[in-house]
Amino acid sequence: MNKVILVLSDALRFDVAKDNMGFLGHLVEKQQASLYKIKGELPSMSRPMYETIHTGLSSSEHGIVANSIVRLSNKPNIFQAVKKAGKVTAAAAYYWYSELYNRAPYNPIDDKETDDESLNIQHGRFYTEDEYPDIELINSAAHLVRKYAPDYLLLHPMGMDYHGETYGSDTKEYRNHAVYQDSKLAPFLLEWRELGYTVFVTGDHGINKDGAHGGSALEQRTVPFFVIQPSAKGRGEVDETVSHLQVAPTILNLLEIPIPETMKQKPLSLR
Ligand SMILES: [Zn+2]
Repeated sequence: MNKVILVLSDALRFDVAKDNMGFLGHLVEKQQASLYKIKGELPSMSRPMYETIHTGLSSSEHGIVANSIVRLSNKPNIFQAVKKAGKVTAAAAYYWYSELYNRAPYNPIDDKETDDESLNIQHGRFYTEDEYPDIELINSAAHLVRKYAPDYLLLHPMGMDYHGETYGSDTKEYRNHAVYQDSKLAPFLLEWRELGYTVFVTGDHGINKDGAHGGSALEQRTVPFFVIQPSAKGRGEVDETVSHLQVAPTILNLLEIPIPETMKQKPLSLR
């Protein structure tokens, strides 16, 4: 039975990931993983892209066109489809995810830790501070995997975005954080692969040297899409640009869940 973990590293740029994430690079180099390039949807902003990645719809189609729009998603999405299929969902993520798929607005006391099968994100561990340490969040996600064996888990660390917005992308702080994230993820990538998970590592948008994103420049929208499969076989670096719009149908396809009609892009073929 297929299970999926999506590591959505906020503001992880393609070039910085490729140059600085050495364990992921090792898996790609040894053909144990595949690396695609994603030309991100627009605007290259967080909340619109969270919804785009989870619905397979562009911002003007799903309506979350700015970070300031605080409401539940009203389109078919990954969490809803997985739950509807009787499977288990989980997330260790920024609180905007709770607002999109569980409840809006977010209540930091009642919504922070949720274990409720009636919610779209059944097992949620949420945070509100951008500087919340990635390792604490990664450990929460790893715990959710061991305890609940979710069919779909989202791990959404904010460290790249925090360092990129604070110092700019052309800095040791931003680059070093990619090294750090890679080293903290590495042991779990192997653990999860052995448990039978397909793991994707990507970003919602990039970032520029001013510490900004939102626009259409390549550094603001180009993100990696690493694919690590339980077979430990991959295609290495693939000379192929794919779309954020393909992420949701690809995940549902792997989970053998019917793809909603609204998700029109083709799932990636991962054989
Ligand atoms: Zn973001």
